[in-house]
Order: sequence, then structure tokens, then C-alpha cells
Amino acid sequence: MELTEEKLDEMLKDLLNLCRTNLPNVNEDLIIKGFKLSLEAHKNHFRASGDPYFLHPYQVTMIVAKEIPLDDISVVSALLHDVVEDTDISLEFIEKEFGKEIAEIVDGVTKIGGVFMGQSITQAENYRKLLLSMVNDVRVILVKFADRLHNMRTLEFVSQHKQRRIATETLEIYAPFANRFGLAKVKWELEDLAFKYLNKEAYNEISKKLKETRREREDYIKNITAPIRERLDEHELSYEIGGRPKHFYSIYKKMIKQNKPLEDIYDLSAIRIILESNDPNECYYVLGIINQLFKPIPDRFKDFISIPKRNNYQSIHNTVIGPNGKLVEIQIRTRQMHEIAEKGVAAHWKYKENMDSSNTDLEDWVNLIRDIFESASKDEASNEILQSFKLNLYQDEIYVFTPKGDLKILPIDSTPVDFAYEIHSKVGYHCIGAKVNGKIVPLSSPITSGDQVEILTSKNQHPNKSWLQFVQTHKAKSNIRKYIQKEEDRIVETGKEIWERKLKKYKLIFTSDDINKLVSKLKFENQAKFFVAVAEDRIDLESILNPVELKEDDIHELEFDNFAKYARDSVGEVVVEGEHKGFVYSYAKCCNPIPGDPIVGYITIGEGIKIHRKNCKNLLSLSENSESRLVPVEWPGEKGSFFLAGISIKGEDRPGILKDISNSIAGFNNTNIKSVNISTTDSIFNGHITVYIQDVMNLNKLIDRLKKNKGVFSVERFDAHN
Ligand code: MN
Repeated sequence: MELTEEKLDEMLKDLLNLCRTNLPNVNEDLIIKGFKLSLEAHKNHFRASGDPYFLHPYQVTMIVAKEIPLDDISVVSALLHDVVEDTDISLEFIEKEFGKEIAEIVDGVTKIGGVFMGQSITQAENYRKLLLSMVNDVRVILVKFADRLHNMRTLEFVSQHKQRRIATETLEIYAPFANRFGLAKVKWELEDLAFKYLNKEAYNEISKKLKETRREREDYIKNITAPIRERLDEHELSYEIGGRPKHFYSIYKKMIKQNKPLEDIYDLSAIRIILESNDPNECYYVLGIINQLFKPIPDRFKDFISIPKRNNYQSIHNTVIGPNGKLVEIQIRTRQMHEIAEKGVAAHWKYKENMDSSNTDLEDWVNLIRDIFESASKDEASNEILQSFKLNLYQDEIYVFTPKGDLKILPIDSTPVDFAYEIHSKVGYHCIGAKVNGKIVPLSSPITSGDQVEILTSKNQHPNKSWLQFVQTHKAKSNIRKYIQKEEDRIVETGKEIWERKLKKYKLIFTSDDINKLVSKLKFENQAKFFVAVAEDRIDLESILNPVELKEDDIHELEFDNFAKYARDSVGEVVVEGEHKGFVYSYAKCCNPIPGDPIVGYITIGEGIKIHRKNCKNLLSLSENSESRLVPVEWPGEKGSFFLAGISIKGEDRPGILKDISNSIAGFNNTNIKSVNISTTDSIFNGHITVYIQDVMNLNKLIDRLKKNKGVFSVERFDAHN
């Protein structure tokens, strides 16, 4: 088809006429401007049918003006709905030339156009919500319905694969959705067209049979309507009466549901009476007339005038026994009810009259929209009203796809981490990155409706505390918190173990109260935080548990420590054999071994080898379950070499005693005195003597010798207490 000047003039005239008839206000200049821009923008494009592409936006606009007549804004938006997606014209340009509203509607139609591409439809209701969540102006959806309807009307020109995809989408999403908006006519047509492409065989069969019986049905309808006309005319009523168009898909559904052949679907004969009056009472008046003519079937009677359907459908449905005993359904309604039934939302523009807002349920929302249309029809200066076209439905949710096309509903501003937890807590647990629409994005970047999100995981990845700052869902938050808590519990346990070991080492006992005192003294929030600090080595436990204030025993200890250190240094490095050679080692404070003592090494976590006396009690309990941590170690030096030992000696402070002691030592097996320290208090002398001696056996013999000196009370090996 070619678009000649005359043809285009005619098209524009038709459109403007339709708008003048159907719309409350018509900005003709704006419509002409939109018409021209669309024509120019699409001039080099063609449809699959070979027609100039402009015919598509034009026909979509005609559908809007005729089937969904709202306002001139939606008409112009329909003209321009494919311009941004398919041509070089930018959204900014549209906004500059046509205003923000039209630009936003065009943008919305473009965006939702691609949403279902490549997705298999699994959760239709969610898809409808997805659509709503993506738009903030109801006119986007209405233009989209018109777009879809025209595409369905011209579906024969695209590939079979595309036919199936678009038809399925139409049947699952757009048709029920149109119904929710009260757009019955659009719904029927969408359904029948989709049915035609999805089940050609059944469609053709129904079509064929209806054609065969058409004459018969028309005759029957004449038979039944003739007496009705007569009576209605008698009463001087203004009305329209006729057979009701049957919709193939609804017949098909009935056949399936009732498991009956076409011939047995009872209400194939149906007539409709539309009263030109606006008075609902006239419907009941007509009902009375009909019931006098034909016998009604009471349990098939439905009064949707007193109780409208949820989409505001109003009508009387009355089934009577017609000529030849056939059941006939007769619908009675006013013109206004009829328009609302056929055009739904759009018709309310003209009629409806009550106002109530504030709900987010879809039904309530549709009602709200109707109310908005109603108030707009009062021709109020528009700004405020047009603001009301804004949707608030599902705007706090986003609808995103898995790679397989499943839809997930998440709160707005959700991130890939939320999405990952939505799929499975394990996916969230190990998520390391995400691809949104094929591109790698940071885990913290918000996703939006219609995005396809793929989560990348790694076994080594674990939840991170920082995730809590950006996740939105409760599921993600609680799972991350749970993980962090568990991790902290583990660290607390480790801290406790270290703590217990230290207590043992210093032979200290801390009650829970004592710990609490310490915790608050160190300014920790609670015990757990304290133990975490212990585990992470942020506290010097040594200086806390081994304070420098000294008692008498401590003095002894300290002196012995110095002695032990000196004695050990004097013999050189301890010998560690085998695989642990070269390990860092230190001397256990619990038993403080000195050269000459039988020793053994214990491998600690993080502190190298600790060298204990073989008979250390602490060691015995430590190694109970961990024999494998024990390593053989030895003091350095050849057998028979000397080591440094300390002797404590107490006695009566008498003249000559020091000389006697010295003699006892010097005369014994080449033992050499290293140092002698003697203090006297109240005629008691206290001596510390260090000697080089061959081994512990000789040391014990020497101690026995010293004890035999006159006035000596006690002789002991200088050793750690206990
Ligand atoms: Mn289109």
C-alpha cells in the first residue's frame, strides 16, 4: 500500500474526526504535529507485510481513539510510540517538542515492549505486575494494549515462531489484563486472534461450524426478537436489540470445560438489549416484559446491576426458554453500562461519578484510575488531574528474571545479593559477582524491573559484613547476619580456649563475675567481644594475668625466673630433632625448666614449641588428647658436661658457716661455685648459691652433703614453686 498525499490527508482527517467525537478535549495542532513527525521518522521503514511502517502507529492511534478513547495525550503518544525505539529521534527531542508527559509515555511503551522477549511465560499474574511496576502512567498500558491489538491483527506476516510467542504472551498476559481494565472488546479480540494462531485447527473448526449454522441462528434470533421489539415499541422505549457476537475462544473454552461438542453449547443463541435511557430501572422494566413473553429459568438469572462485577461490569443476564424449547440468554443494560463493559476505563472518562483513592490492590487501583478519568472529564484545569495519572502500584517492587526466565519479585533498590538469596540461601552464601543483562556488575548495584540477573558463585566466597549496608530483603539480611553470628561464635570459642589455657598456665581461677569485671574494666561491650579480641590477639593477656605487683612468692618466682634464664643461656640452644628442627621455641612458664631437668617440647598454635619439664602437670593435661604434638628435645652439650644449678640454703647465722658450706661444695666432684648470695636477718642466714654441676643425681648428692653442716636448717634445689 502506498501513502499518497490524498491518502495521508484522508487518514489525518479520519483521525481528527474520531478524536473530536470521542475525546473531551482535542489539541488538534499537537495531533497533527505528532502525525507528521511519526510519518517522517518512519518514512524509510516497512512492516513485515511490506506496508509502510507508519501505518502501524497510525492504526494503533486509531484503536486508541476508537476503543480506548482517553485523551489527546494518549493519542499523540500512540502516534509516536515506536519512534524512539526504531528511529534516530531521541526522547529528549520528543520532550522538547511534545512535553514531558508524552515523552514519558513513549518511554514507558518502549521499555515494556522488550520485557518478555526471550522469556517463557510461567507466572502470568506476576508478569502483569511487572508491567505495572515498570510504568508510572496508566496511559502507557493503554497504548500498549492498542499496540498489541494491531500487532495481533497483522500477525500473519511474521514467522511462525514469532506468531506463537506473541500469541502466547497475548493470551497469558495482555488479554486477562485488558479484562481487568474493563476493556472487554479489546480482550475478546486479543483472545480470538491469539487462539487463531495457537490452535489453528480448533479455531477453523469452530469458524466453519458457526458459518454453516449462521443462517439458522440468524433466523432464530429474528424469531425471538420480533415479539420483543413489538412489546418494547408499544412501551415507546428507545433501544437497540440484536444477536450477541460470539467469541471463538470463549466457545472453545466452554467446549473444553463442559466437554461438549459445539452444537451442545446452549447459549450460542444470545441476544442483547441496549437501552438508550440512563435509568437502570428501565432494565428491570424490560426484564418484566421479557419474562411475560418467555418462561425464565430462575437459577440462571444474574443481576450485575445491583451487584456489579469487580471490573465494574453492569448488566442483567436472564435465561429464558425460547421458541422450540431452546435456551436463550438475554442481556439487558443501558448504553452507559454497555460502553463501560466494552471500553472499561476509557468509558468511565465519560460517565462515572464517585471518588475514592488510596489503595494498592489492583482492583482498587483500576477503580481509582476510573475515578481519575471521571474527574478529568469535568474539564478542570489539568495539571493537578494529570498528576493523578501517575501510578503508585507496585512501584515499591521490582520484577526480575532468572536466566531461565523465572520471575522474582523483590523490593525496590534490591541488589544481586538480594536476588541470590531469593533463589536459594546457598546461592546467596557463595555469590561472588553478578551479570545483569549479560554485563558484570558490582554486588551492590541496584537492579531494576525487567532485568535478567545471573549470579556467579564461588565455593570460597562467604557473606561479608559490608553486604548488610546495601541488601534490601529480609531474607538476605537475616541470612547474612546468621552467617556473621556463626563466624563470631567460632572466634569466641577460639578466644575462650586461649583464655582457658592462659588461666591454666598461671593457675588462676576466674568466675564469670570476675570475667565480667575484667571485660568492663577493659571497656569491652560484652564477654563475646572480649573473647573475639583475645582470639585476634588484640589484648596482652600476659600482662593482665601475670601482673607485676609482687608478693613474697612472686619475689622468689622472679628471682628464679632470672636464674632460670641465666642458667639456660649459659648452656646454649636446646636441641630440637626431626621435622621440627628450626622451630621457634620458648620455655613454659608453668614449670620453668632449667638445665638438667628432663624436658619435652609441645607444639602450640602460633607460638612455636613450648619446652616443659617432662613431669609438668600442665603438660600432662595438654597432651592427653594430642600426643602427636609432643616433640623430643634435649639440653645442649655432650654427656658429662656441666650445667648451672641453684641451691637455696637456710641456717643459723654463726661464724664460719659460709666457709663450711664453701668447703662442702668445692670438695665435691669438681663442682665449681658460680655465685653466692647471702642475706642475714635476725640471726638466720638465707643463701642462694649457683654451681656448675654434672647432673641432677650429683646435685642431689651435693644437697645431702650441705645438709650435714652444723646449723643448716634446709637445703633445696632452687626451683619454681610447685
Ligand atoms: Mn508498535
